[in-house]
Amino acid sequence: MEKEVRVRFAPSPTGDPHVGGIRTAIFNWLFARHHGGRFIFRIEDTDQARLVEGSVGVLQEALRWLGIEWDEGPEVGGDYGPYFQSQRLDLYQDAVKQLVASGHAYRCYCTSERLAEVRSRQAKAKGFTGYDRRCRDLSDEERLELESSAETTVVRFSMPLDGTTTVNDIVRGEVTFENKLVDDYVLLKSDGFPTYHLAHVVDDHHMKISHVLRAEEWLPSIPRHLQLYEAFGWEPPQFAHLPIILAPDRSKLSKRHGATSVLEYRDLGYLPQSMFNFLTLLGWSLDDKTELFTVQELVEQFTLDRITKSSAIFNTEKLDWMNGHYIRTLTDDALADALLSFWRECPPETIEIIPDREYVIRLVPLVKERMKTLRDAEPLISFLFKDEVEYESEELVQKGMDTESTRHGLEVALTGIESLGSFESEPLEELLRATAGDLNVKAGQLFGSLRMATTGLRVAPPLFQTMEVMGKERTVASVRKAIERLG
Ligand code: GLU
Repeated sequence: MEKEVRVRFAPSPTGDPHVGGIRTAIFNWLFARHHGGRFIFRIEDTDQARLVEGSVGVLQEALRWLGIEWDEGPEVGGDYGPYFQSQRLDLYQDAVKQLVASGHAYRCYCTSERLAEVRSRQAKAKGFTGYDRRCRDLSDEERLELESSAETTVVRFSMPLDGTTTVNDIVRGEVTFENKLVDDYVLLKSDGFPTYHLAHVVDDHHMKISHVLRAEEWLPSIPRHLQLYEAFGWEPPQFAHLPIILAPDRSKLSKRHGATSVLEYRDLGYLPQSMFNFLTLLGWSLDDKTELFTVQELVEQFTLDRITKSSAIFNTEKLDWMNGHYIRTLTDDALADALLSFWRECPPETIEIIPDREYVIRLVPLVKERMKTLRDAEPLISFLFKDEVEYESEELVQKGMDTESTRHGLEVALTGIESLGSFESEPLEELLRATAGDLNVKAGQLFGSLRMATTGLRVAPPLFQTMEVMGKERTVASVRKAIERLG
């Protein structure tokens, strides 16, 4: 690539960091890192009505959680700042003056009532839709008069009335639009703020952006943008419009389908490496079969020619599978740390005091194989944090057993457990398998009763490892209690 790669993630701070937006950020970041280029983070806060307070903070939090650091932007600065559009208003106003002077833009004095009328007329006629260009050809006198009397003014771009505009999109290939179908859109609003169309073109030029990777929804606006570059006499960047992300039912991904914010996924117990891997595969693939990639591998492999044209489906089952995989690849120490920081952010309901690290490291082998998310650990181990194990006495009695045989089995097991010297899972298992044999019951029957007695769960972490973690005293006490309860 001859030109320095400079790409940007340019969200509008209008709420939670949506998975779609963050997927765009990831693609830009991977592309920049692959080429040793720069990743710029720019805040597009010119639509004052849509701003949501706190959005910039949560966007930063989401990027940092995923390990996406930016080379220029909020907090880190850079040579092309400021990186908030609301602090660049002079630049847009100057740009507009330039366009008006060169005849590429004009002031429009139409009231909102008049525009509404135009719209309703057009809706009936079913032809061209958009501004009817009434103020485009005003005489100097008319203009002068309106300048002093009009309530509001905006500045509009003079779209060419004929010809076509063609983009050579990296993902979509050549796409051609007829200019006459595009209306004279607004560049500068009556409040002095620019529209997205103007602001991002001015910024992308001044920030020397080489490639624009953005959502496909912007493709229809490309004739507006390319004509604007032409009017300024600037060379446009290259464009890659990224495929849309759909829910499994192929409708637009929304709250109705579950979480849509990346931070919600964090709080549901997903690891950042799963989220990163999963989101990268929404619209990019190496070979249609490889699913698991480390971030480093993605940096090495990520090229734009592998972005897919078809829509991507957001499949949470796949995300769960991936997260389970990444949980199991963590060392016990690393998973303990992940659990501890997760619990600090999202305190478990049934564990009052978060245990210390040493203890959590001992708990990890009990739960690791059974977890899809970090949330899954709590219900598997919460019994360890209660004074009394909770269950109904009948639950001690396994299929094919009765109260009497269950009690007898537990008594024999208890004698064995009490006499055991080293209280570790292997000798425990050996002992209790032999006990089941002596009693002439199935191992599963005896273990089922012991599992209920010690954990209160039907499906629990591995029994003998659990007993080892519980320790002899507590194990003995809970088996004794079970025998008592059986009368
Ligand atoms: N602010 C726009 C958005 O959030 C940015 C689109 C672009 O990347 O140009 O959709």
